[in-house]
Amino acid sequence: MKENPANHVIGIDLGGTRLRVALADRAGTIIRHRVVPTLAEEGRNAVLGRIVVEVRTILDPINLVDLAAVAVAVPGPVDPLNGVVYRPPNLPGWGDVDLKSILEDELTVPVVVGNDANLAALAEHRFGAGRGASHLVYITMSTGIGGGIVNDGELLLGAWGGAAEIGHMTIDLNGPRCSCGNFGCLEAMASGRAITDEAARRIAFGATSVLTEWIHGKVDDLRTQIIVQAAHEGDPLAIEVIEWAAYHLGVGLANLMHLFDPDVIVIGGGVSNAWNLLMPTIQRALRERAMEVYGCRTRIVRSELGDDGGMFGAVAMAIDAAKFLEERKAA
Ligand SMILES: [Zn+2]
Repeated sequence: MKENPANHVIGIDLGGTRLRVALADRAGTIIRHRVVPTLAEEGRNAVLGRIVVEVRTILDPINLVDLAAVAVAVPGPVDPLNGVVYRPPNLPGWGDVDLKSILEDELTVPVVVGNDANLAALAEHRFGAGRGASHLVYITMSTGIGGGIVNDGELLLGAWGGAAEIGHMTIDLNGPRCSCGNFGCLEAMASGRAITDEAARRIAFGATSVLTEWIHGKVDDLRTQIIVQAAHEGDPLAIEVIEWAAYHLGVGLANLMHLFDPDVIVIGGGVSNAWNLLMPTIQRALRERAMEVYGCRTRIVRSELGDDGGMFGAVAMAIDAAKFLEERKAA
């Protein structure tokens, strides 16, 4: 007798601040979703318990046998083949966690795990700004820089699942120190943190700016958002710093175009809200740094899914995992 396939999947975006959970059908239509605080400071076991409760809550009143798979997007390095999470920086005290096994024991359904920026790339490809493109590069510009690459319709994982660490490609051999320990990474020269650090450095060296007034001289109060606002109001220092970051991003995009020849590059994350300030300089960097034929054909667009990218990507991964497991069982 042929079993009926289960009709639902759950995608979870496990963020350092928020836990986003979506129940979807097998076509990727979201039936309902919830956003709750992660409360990461309560530690690993509390967060794992919260994930299990959220899965049961969002599924109710649907029976667990009608749930085909659960996927979790994690903010840090993962081994997607074995479902292991390696010391996510925004989840204190986690260490290395066999997330797949732990959740499968609790939920008794197949669980898969992916990196959140990788899954956001998959989400933009499947449901967002990159629909219809077979070759896509996704970059998230927030406090740091993450990314994901879809090559010929498939998420590029690398041999160990660590591919597409776009934020840690070197842009300047002698650039500022990066959170990873290297110097001059894209993340150290174009992220939200890089923008605030560079503005602080220039103010410390005596540059005048409306920002010094706005933050009452307290450099620790500098935020990307207020630097962007100052740039919109014509503050020369703020404009210079945004253009400094945008040029480095453009250099990074030229590298990515030459390596992956994508149809489309999708840019998301909070810093991308400064789109109109960033784009002219990004385009200038591409004219100066990319071979002409590449610079002309790749579209550069804003993310459509925003903060929901990880959650939608987890839904996509859960759908793919369910299909793979059913095909394997049938073979
Ligand atoms: Zn780095």
